[in-house]
Amino acid sequence: MFYSPFDNAVSGLNKIKNEIADEKLFFGEDLVCKRCKTRLSDLLETGYVGCEDCYSLFEKDVLPMIYDFHKAVRHTGKRPEIIETKAAKQKQIEELLKRQAEASASEDYILAQSIKEKIEELRRK
Ligand SMILES: [Zn+2]
Repeated sequence: MFYSPFDNAVSGLNKIKNEIADEKLFFGEDLVCKRCKTRLSDLLETGYVGCEDCYSLFEKDVLPMIYDFHKAVRHTGKRPEIIETKAAKQKQIEELLKRQAEASASEDYILAQSIKEKIEELRRK
């Protein structure tokens, strides 16, 4: 089953299901990247795509719909940052690396360590 709080995305997904080409597959009600097995529900949950393939898969078929959904959500003031590209993730890591270096430079090793753990967590995703 496809569990998601994103009702618009779900109904939109159902609409496009029949239009999606053969090289892409659904896992139950979910859309799955063949290469890395990232599911659309994972993407919605974590905000991260797993590989280049799923980026193009989700970008072409799904993201435009979600961006529309985002606009709708923004109006309600909730504005979740659901979709982050690899580039955004990389930028986030670079930012953290900078902060880690600053923390080390000022001998705040506890902060440096916690930032390092955050970076490792991001890289695992
Ligand atoms: Zn993928």
